[in-house]
Amino acid sequence: RLTRLRERLVKSNSILGKGLLALLASDRIDESVWDEVEETLLLADIGTEPSLALVDTLRDRVKVMGTRSPEEVRAMLREELVKLVDPALDRSLAVDRKSGKPAVVLVVGVNGVGKTTTVGKLARVLVAEDKDVLLGAADTFRAAAAQQLATWGARVGVPTVKSDVDGADPASVAFEAVQAGIEQEADVVMVDTAGRLQNKVGLMDELGKVKRVIEKLAEVDEVLLVLDATTGQNGLTQAKVFSEVVDITGIVLTKLDGTAKGGIVVAIQKQLGVPVKLVGLGEGPDDLAPFDPEAFVDAILA
Ligand code: GDP
Repeated sequence: RLTRLRERLVKSNSILGKGLLALLASDRIDESVWDEVEETLLLADIGTEPSLALVDTLRDRVKVMGTRSPEEVRAMLREELVKLVDPALDRSLAVDRKSGKPAVVLVVGVNGVGKTTTVGKLARVLVAEDKDVLLGAADTFRAAAAQQLATWGARVGVPTVKSDVDGADPASVAFEAVQAGIEQEADVVMVDTAGRLQNKVGLMDELGKVKRVIEKLAEVDEVLLVLDATTGQNGLTQAKVFSEVVDITGIVLTKLDGTAKGGIVVAIQKQLGVPVKLVGLGEGPDDLAPFDPEAFVDAILA
């Protein structure tokens, strides 16, 4: 799995790594080189403040180093990037039964970011760990969305609670799903939600209500915010909007297979103080991996 993660990420990120390494290995590093290093980091969506800080650190370290071999430069860059990507946040997923009840995972995010796909992939991971999983289709705006989730459920062999009526109350579907999970003594109930940001207030009210209604039955253990890495800084705006309504416990960064903007990992963790827990690396059922900061940086520098 990790090797594959590496391969996928190499495809998307190596421009960043090779460019940086080449710049830093040049004989004379003058201000224009530092400007280029900074620009490379900014283009990768690492964010202004972390990019500036990284350039300052590198500049100081290069000064102390004197002559540099490419290996030394690589090691230095790796060390500094790992520090940036891994601010010691807890990346474990709360997916164990607690107080005789299933763990409840609420999955939120804007439409099209890959929420439903993520729920399907994560269900598969949990089933492989011998967990009993139940899905709740609280994206009730389109019957097609609920059906898409049920299809994923069938694919990975887990039941889906859904309503067949377009526009059913999402909170009541979420409630029914958690209730069924409790009755069936499931290990994990994962609830997929709607994400139409066009009506921000309505959506957020709805999401708050979904969470409150679930909490009548069980604690919500994880609120995973799904963000599409290809949208870069937009993801940050979405994250702020969602975190005003629910306490996000983790980020799932999808579509990392198709972008060189993986630097958004750094910006998100820094601004929200929430860890990236999982990454999406493709559309298939096995294309979800735990986020591994060192593997991520190695992929950047490959
Ligand atoms: P939702 O509206 O947030 O539930 O999004 P969907 O789960 O329906 O996904 C939207 C599209 O993104 C679909 O075509 C998915 O196959 C695709 N998708 C989801 N995750 C990934 C990923 O990690 N990589 C790629 N390349 N595509 C993804």
